[in-house]
Amino acid sequence: MASQPLKSNLPRKTCPVCGFSFTWRKKWAKCWDEVKYCSKRCRKRVFQLKRSS
Ligand SMILES: [Zn+2]
Repeated sequence: MASQPLKSNLPRKTCPVCGFSFTWRKKWAKCWDEVKYCSKRCRKRVFQLKRSS
């Protein structure tokens, strides 16, 4: 039996930049604890906001 988690069982996080609620992805398997933003674009935006303030 394959032990793939059900979609509804996947962990979720909410992006603090755009408010988008995103689900765990395979590419984040090793760094899920460090993932804070839904996309590279949002991560970039945070840096830009920090810089301009
Ligand atoms: Zn986002």
